[in-house]
Amino acid sequence: MNTIQLTRHDTHYDLCMLASKVNVLNEALIQDLSSALEQIEQAPLPVLVRSAHRDFVLGADITAFKEWFAEPADQVNARISATQRVFDRFAQLPCATLAWIDGFALGGGFELALACDYRAGADGARVGLPEVTLGLCPSWGGTVRSAQLMGYQAACKFVLSGRPITLHPALQAGLIDYRADTVEQAVETLLGCDDPQRGLNLPKPASEEIEPIEDRQSQRAQAQIGQLMSAIQSMDLQQAQAAEVEVFVALAQSSESEALVQRYLNDQACKRSAKQIAAKTCEVKTIGVVGAGIMGGGIAWQCAVSGFDVVIRDLTDQALQAAQDEVARLAGAAQKKGRMDQAGAQTVLARLQFSTQLESLAEVDVIIEAVTEQERIKHAVLAEVDRGTSPAALITSNTSTLSISGLAAALQQPEGFAGLHFFNPVPVMPLVEVIRGQQTAPDTMAVLVALAGALGKRAVVVNDCPGFLVNRVLFPYLNAFDELAAKGCDIAQIDQVMKAYGWPMGPGVLSDVIGIDTCVHASDVMAQGFPKRMPVPHPSAMRERMNAGLLGQKTQEGFYRFEQDERGRLMPVQLSPAYSDGSQQLSAEEIVEVLMRPMVLELARCVDEGVVESAAVADTACLLGLGYPGWRCGPLYWGQQMGWVQGYY
Ligand code: NAD
Repeated sequence: MNTIQLTRHDTHYDLCMLASKVNVLNEALIQDLSSALEQIEQAPLPVLVRSAHRDFVLGADITAFKEWFAEPADQVNARISATQRVFDRFAQLPCATLAWIDGFALGGGFELALACDYRAGADGARVGLPEVTLGLCPSWGGTVRSAQLMGYQAACKFVLSGRPITLHPALQAGLIDYRADTVEQAVETLLGCDDPQRGLNLPKPASEEIEPIEDRQSQRAQAQIGQLMSAIQSMDLQQAQAAEVEVFVALAQSSESEALVQRYLNDQACKRSAKQIAAKTCEVKTIGVVGAGIMGGGIAWQCAVSGFDVVIRDLTDQALQAAQDEVARLAGAAQKKGRMDQAGAQTVLARLQFSTQLESLAEVDVIIEAVTEQERIKHAVLAEVDRGTSPAALITSNTSTLSISGLAAALQQPEGFAGLHFFNPVPVMPLVEVIRGQQTAPDTMAVLVALAGALGKRAVVVNDCPGFLVNRVLFPYLNAFDELAAKGCDIAQIDQVMKAYGWPMGPGVLSDVIGIDTCVHASDVMAQGFPKRMPVPHPSAMRERMNAGLLGQKTQEGFYRFEQDERGRLMPVQLSPAYSDGSQQLSAEEIVEVLMRPMVLELARCVDEGVVESAAVADTACLLGLGYPGWRCGPLYWGQQMGWVQGYY
């Protein structure tokens, strides 16, 4: 047994999982669990099941899923049922079993704990069944056993959320029975457990009507898990487990789960890619944010909340006051959500210094320039900042559209300059594009990728080109929308179709939220960069609206008319009567194809040209930067399923 150490003490067994690095339920661990059970079955004594690592068990081995699920359905069923039987043997032992959880017990790892008679958790325990995030349901007794402990509706909610819960909610829900912070306490708890077959003796919970639960994780899994939770109410444990496996196999072999598993693998590849580039430690202590507008305020907050000292510079006290108000608002919101207390908020706010003086930037380690998007202004600001900071400081720009290699001309050391492209709203959006200009040094990239991580963001390295990655693929999509709208297609229908496709909002609302003038400007930049492929749309509904002063949300009218809701947010309420037409109707398939094909082809080009490292990174960036629906994996993956591109997966 390489992954388990089984020690027999006078009073109990200590079954300790110690696979290298982390415990994952792969074939080796399952086989070793079975061998350990054989020894225990021959001379039963109470069993403590625990991990030698910080985490209990992180779940099944997702890297093996693709291969497993490609097997015929009866083989997948047999494989899952075999592991279920191993877990059942824990429940059937004639002596008490207790899983002691510290750190994460996820998926199959938590199902192993659920198969024990009792569970004890340390303060750091986090338990969850995240299978739904892969388009799957738990299959090793997780749905049935969690329902036995917390009731059917609560278990359905727990399984469908996919989110792990901490010790106290788990104790309240009955998923964990005791608190134990040390192995000794866990052993003491085990020896005090009075029902050696509690797992088998749990009473059947009262039947409940399963109410539908809205979740965007996986449409197919969501429906099937709800049905399963209703169906198992009239079954005994064995029948319920058989039903669970059946649903699992159907889900595992669906295209949706295939896409979600690939999304997970992409995400891991993207993290690995950033890790390879990032400096081992981030030496940055103080950050200078230049420009205290929409982005500057959000970036400054994000830096301070991540523990950095921040100097924010703008030209006027008035501009600085607006940023001060914004960070105070963000501090208030964080407290309201319970993310920090008042003292914590004050500590964060105390890290921020506001100044109109260039000298205030003299000591910073990194500059993030976030001033008005005009080349002339940016050149002047960058040159000034370059003179005002230490030569060791790295300088970055948050520009959305200007060339990083071009802006580098303003600096004495272009090797210490790169793009650091945050998305709006900064505290919410998880992605940062780290843009490598022609002269950016590898060391500069290493520090900035590490810094993005230290700011709690996911870094994607992008080689400089118009639009970088995310905007470069967004604008072919928005241009296609612009042309359809100009030709009189029904904008509300287009938005409905693209929402049903899975986008958080349709392209009409998105253009209004970004600002129609900003969209037009970016589309012009793309047309300059790629005149043949992305010419200025003609006719253009956006330009027509811009010329009429209808700029979207910021002027309360663009494609839609906006009104404040009860929380004071400007929401689209109806199509703008100025341009409602809708004379042309396309089918949903036509709309999806017209809008999505240009995006997919452009993303493929970005991979081919080496703008990003791989299809996995490109697709992940679209998920994190654009909100592309995760259950379609990514535009390239989906485009390949559609037959528009090939060879990326
Ligand atoms: P903004 O107009 O809200 O703020 C710009 C700020 O820069 C203003 O406060 C202005 O006073 C200040 N400024 C101008 N000249 C200055 C100087 N010489 N020194 C110091 N401050 C100066 O703009 P924004 O929306 O925050 O955009 C800032 C940058 O971020 C732009 O490059 C933009 O392309 C980029 N960006 C914006 C978004 C977005 O959604 N707003 C998203 C990503 C990137």
